[in-house]
Amino acid sequence: MALQFYNSIKRKRNIFSPIIDGEVKLYTCGPTVYNYAHIGNFRTFMFEDLLRRYLEFKGFTVTHVMNLTDVDDKTIRNSQQAGTPLLKFVQFFKDAFFADLDALNIRRAHHYPAATAYVPQMIEMVKTLVDKNYAYVSDDGSVFFDIAKFPEYGRLANLKPEDMLVGNRVADDEYDKEEMRDFALWKGRKAEDGEIFWDSPWGKGRPGWHIECSVMSTELLGDHFDIHCGGIDNLFPHHENEIAQSVCATGKEFVNYWLHSEYLLVDRKKMSKSDHNYFTIPDLLERNIPASIIRWMLLTTHYRQKLNFSLDRVEEAQKSLDRIMSFKNRLKEYQGIEGNAEPFLDDSMKSFELSMDDDLNISGGLGAIFEMIRNGNRLMDMNEFSQEGKLLAMSLIERFDSVLGIFDLLENEATLSLVNDTSWIEAKIIERNKARKAKDYDMSDALRNEIIEAGYELIDKPDETIWKKRTI
Ligand code: AMP
Ligand code: ZN
Repeated sequence: MALQFYNSIKRKRNIFSPIIDGEVKLYTCGPTVYNYAHIGNFRTFMFEDLLRRYLEFKGFTVTHVMNLTDVDDKTIRNSQQAGTPLLKFVQFFKDAFFADLDALNIRRAHHYPAATAYVPQMIEMVKTLVDKNYAYVSDDGSVFFDIAKFPEYGRLANLKPEDMLVGNRVADDEYDKEEMRDFALWKGRKAEDGEIFWDSPWGKGRPGWHIECSVMSTELLGDHFDIHCGGIDNLFPHHENEIAQSVCATGKEFVNYWLHSEYLLVDRKKMSKSDHNYFTIPDLLERNIPASIIRWMLLTTHYRQKLNFSLDRVEEAQKSLDRIMSFKNRLKEYQGIEGNAEPFLDDSMKSFELSMDDDLNISGGLGAIFEMIRNGNRLMDMNEFSQEGKLLAMSLIERFDSVLGIFDLLENEATLSLVNDTSWIEAKIIERNKARKAKDYDMSDALRNEIIEAGYELIDKPDETIWKKRTI
């Protein structure tokens, strides 16, 4: 089977074929940095990480762009409430976002454009739309896109032109399908915006949210690129409006594949900041839920199914991770007998790819991995697993992990738990003292370095060595 994805604009699966052979240009709508991202947001970012990793696993060179929305109604409102200048205010949440990405071992995008760095290009695109008569200026110096001028409007969200509320306008960035109307490309300055404005041909103002993504995606990936992703709530109006803006401004096609992930729910409701029903990554880490488990819980439900997040599933996730890790460790120790690699190994890789090629069917992919583990364990129990099979299994499991991204986290957590256990440091100090007594200074220095790297300070007193945790 060829690699295929469910393409929202076609409402069916499409075989994936990039514009340039072997290269994929991927744009993913990033966080609005007015608060901490919650695990609902990370459900979408995790799906995008899985997509990116799987494309790379398949041998594509991916250029990945994720924008940071640093100027919009929400960032302006919250920075004002906090009494902090906008850029300083958003910097704090940008840093928190990157810390969370790293904590979850999400591969960094190649570019993280911030909307405020692209305002001149946004003004340019709005100007083009006005010049081409797709947009008009209102009395307050705002500019609106005229949806009646674009017959394809509504194609992504499957809306009918007769439902358009022609003649009406919507100034807010977010609204429902029932309110399909002309939307703001540029927002004339209002008192609430305070000092956040730019000069433009229409007077002082700021960009609308939708134009931000049209501009940052085309600036960094070209007018026509391969994949555009986001959560399902981005589909309308955000992505519908992006299509209208980009296609009308450039006169070219915009995006070939639109992929959307479903919601993460709590108690069957969408997790969102406005409903105050959210967990952040630090919230979960503080509850001693390791990052590997958070990653697993976000990753292992198919991206187009709703994911009902529940802490009851922690144990189940832990069991799955333990099985994979103990298989990996067992392989390392196992000697192996003479003979060729067993055929079930190649079959497991084929079956993994067959599932993942089918719109990232993660359950099927994991099924293939666990089947390999079952077979491998059975052969090792009977001491009938070949040396070659063992080596192949070791390389396959690393290859699967290039898609799952859990080993780095698990290894980190294992080191941390050793470090948090005081018996570890005490044993190391005894070992080091023995080495010093034996005048084996290479060994005692190596041990000292190991202890320091693990985050401790050592203080040598005349008759004892004391330790404390280093504070940054
Ligand atoms: P925002 O910071 O609100 O612009 O959202 C960033 C990304 O998270 C967007 O792609 C949203 O579609 C996505 N998102 C927001 N809430 C959820 C949720 N509960 N489940 C899944 N994705 C979400
Ligand atoms: Zn966007």
